[in-house]
Amino acid sequence: MTETTTSSGGRPSLPMQGIPQPRRDEVLDLPRVHISTHPVMAHKMTALRDKNTPPPEFYRQVKEIGALLAYEATANLTLETVPIETPMGPMVGERLAGGIGVTPILRAGLGLAEGFREVIPDAQIWHLGLRRDGQTLQAIAYYNQLPHRVDLQVCYAVDPMLATGGSAIDAINVLKRRDIPRLCYVGIIAAPYVLLKLSQTHPDIDIYIAALDESLNDMGYILPGLGDAGDRQFGTF
Ligand code: URA
Repeated sequence: MTETTTSSGGRPSLPMQGIPQPRRDEVLDLPRVHISTHPVMAHKMTALRDKNTPPPEFYRQVKEIGALLAYEATANLTLETVPIETPMGPMVGERLAGGIGVTPILRAGLGLAEGFREVIPDAQIWHLGLRRDGQTLQAIAYYNQLPHRVDLQVCYAVDPMLATGGSAIDAINVLKRRDIPRLCYVGIIAAPYVLLKLSQTHPDIDIYIAALDESLNDMGYILPGLGDAGDRQFGTF
């Protein structure tokens, strides 16, 4: 398939129109892509996708799914030993070695970041504002307040919908300019197109998602998806 252009020879008016997309089964075995198989996750995803779920309930579900994703994505963090005293005597315990960063991509990533905080209350939250240009789908950074002093073992960029990948790739580019040993991308739903693109552009990051959907429509929305994750969290229809 070839890329569709406007009559003037410029960019396509619909961002994904004419763009070839891989099938779901073509990306299932990509290395470093982790798709949740937890039944509780599947149960919550149905409530999240349902168009009759109102914004307060939708936000609550995003937070809970964020906590489940955090649990899965932190399963291989590095620990260090620490001597402690229990009321019964001395022992050697374990604690996380180095800090944990969570970067919500504004604004849709906010609910997911709250879920991460339920699991890791002392995670540092680094807000990053990226928006998509409606025509070109290029990511534009309008807010970037990452701290100057970095002492993290890992940072998780979180954004519910991995669709065309513009902001995901840009967010990882921004984070790679910091001295962070390990970066991960965490989303709720991904399209096959973005998994291939993100894995090819940043093969050194792990990607954690709750579900892998079928495709993107011409506008760049995920099918069957859940609609606009920002609008549905914050009631801005
Ligand atoms: N962003 C969303 O909120 N939903 C989609 O389906 C794609 C991008």
